[in-house]
Amino acid sequence: MRTSQLYLSTLKEAPAEAELVSHKLMLRAGLIKRLGSGLYTWMPLGLRVLRKVEAVVREEMNRAGAQEILMPTIQPAELWQETGRWELFGPQMLKIKDRHERDFCFGPTHEEVVTDIARLELRSYKQLPVNFYQVQVKFRDEIRPRFGVMRAREFVMKDAYSFDATFEGLQVSYDKMYRAYSNVFSRLGLEFRAVAADTGAIGGSGSHEFHVLADAGEDLLAYCPTSDYAANTELAEALAPTAPRAAPAEAMRDVETPKQTTCEQVAELLGIALQRTVKLIAVIDAEGKLVIVLLRGDHSLNEVKLGKVHGIGEFRFATEAEIRDAFACPPGFLGPVGAPAGTRVIADRTVAAMSDFVCGANKPKYHIAGVNWGRDLPEPDVVADVRNVVEGDPSPDGQGTLSLCRGVEVGHVFQLRTKYSEAMGATFTDVDGTQKPFEMGCYGIGVSRIVGAAIEQNFDERGIVFPQAMAPFALALVAVGYHRSEAVREAADQLYAALQAAGVDVLLDDRNERPGSMFADMELIGIPHRLTIGDKGLAEGVVEYAVRATGAVSKVPLADAVRHCQ
Ligand code: ATP
Ligand code: MG
Ligand code: MG
Ligand code: MG
Repeated sequence: MRTSQLYLSTLKEAPAEAELVSHKLMLRAGLIKRLGSGLYTWMPLGLRVLRKVEAVVREEMNRAGAQEILMPTIQPAELWQETGRWELFGPQMLKIKDRHERDFCFGPTHEEVVTDIARLELRSYKQLPVNFYQVQVKFRDEIRPRFGVMRAREFVMKDAYSFDATFEGLQVSYDKMYRAYSNVFSRLGLEFRAVAADTGAIGGSGSHEFHVLADAGEDLLAYCPTSDYAANTELAEALAPTAPRAAPAEAMRDVETPKQTTCEQVAELLGIALQRTVKLIAVIDAEGKLVIVLLRGDHSLNEVKLGKVHGIGEFRFATEAEIRDAFACPPGFLGPVGAPAGTRVIADRTVAAMSDFVCGANKPKYHIAGVNWGRDLPEPDVVADVRNVVEGDPSPDGQGTLSLCRGVEVGHVFQLRTKYSEAMGATFTDVDGTQKPFEMGCYGIGVSRIVGAAIEQNFDERGIVFPQAMAPFALALVAVGYHRSEAVREAADQLYAALQAAGVDVLLDDRNERPGSMFADMELIGIPHRLTIGDKGLAEGVVEYAVRATGAVSKVPLADAVRHCQ
């Protein structure tokens, strides 16, 4: 490719809306253009990067025995009603109607669709195991789309789904995916960590997330440097210096002091699965009515699942806006700030501190209608152990102390077991002739998020420093004086052709620009290697070779240039 043919649109300054380095640099480098909140167009240069990430993901998925399919983005409501997620998925799901007034959604994930395929296609244990995957656009109406492609509303995900006859089989499939994910992130040149994780709205039992380590990450990870222990703490807001703190002890005095009740009892009362990410903020409004706002998610509140209990016996999901209006909270914050006069607030990040408040003297003080929170299985032991940890705490596995770091979730693997197959009647005939539900796993990679996350880890004051495997081009060939020196033009064209013939993914900068601005552009867009060809070097028979990451510059004989860059 030549820059004269490539649509390049670099900017000196990033638009004001961008907060994170990666978002700023992606806009400045012209990789993406914003269409609307959480909606981005991948421009030619950005799409090259995205495609390179996809290629690595596809290779590793194929290598692990998964088979690519492509499911529709638009999904009929009926499938989601079978699993109950039409209601439970919440406001992240974009619901739409067709001309016949039939309900559909724009797929936020594809468990229902793929389980429907399995129940129609997979009939016998002989056909198992199977793993289907796709690389496709998802839509989630995120409460706070931000950070560019890192938390977009429309984004590219690779999602895979495995079907096994037995739980042991599922574990083998899961391990294969776990290894494939490790390969993907290693090949992409990213520093990452796999951690024990929450299962969120997808549900299921065991689960791990893969995180690209970066200070800007939304998740806080606890890990033990001397053992394999690693988990997502999801208590980031508790540690953020700006996090508002209520004074639970004081507020509690206003309430009848009930007998101590366990978190498990509260969870049972509320009909929710107790997991570390369930947080409660309880509020008594000015009329003395109990209102409980349940939150789940990370410090950014962008994955808030909202529910509220109003007075006695009434429960419904509430939108963030409703809760904000009810308590006059500023946007993006659901805490006690600005609550109407007379409102008493008890806030805490754990269920434990709230439990005795909700359940008085061993019998519920308030009757709360059954709520299906859509989370069905308790997490493994590790989960309880990483609530409220601080740096240097002993680890949960009894080996060493915990360190904390921040991460961007780029992949997530789940053992779904039979949650979906049972709900949808997806069964196969086993060896003994009986009908059994599939043991399922699901495995997601945030393909488009990876691009942002990689930049968070690889940049300097001059711009992006892409890891080789996802750089838009492997090499920039900058021709200084291409338009005024015949010698340069001839040598550059020849070298360009030779590099292409040798399979080098090269971008020839043949623009009629000042050398400084050509260098600046090639550096900003993150091309890992650069050759500069100009009259001065040609007189000595050399070209200049520069490494983007280190800034190291050396002279290479023109005759050796191709070999040097292979
Ligand atoms: P998050 O906790 O960041 O909201 P998630 O747990 O909701 O992510 P999953 O349901 O596990 O996401 O989806 C699989 C992968 O899709 C995630 O690991 C992440 O890399 C990616 N992903 C999820 N939401 C977004 C988004 N809004 N924008 C870009 N990528 C996303
Ligand atoms: Mg989410
Ligand atoms: Mg998550
Ligand atoms: Mg996840």
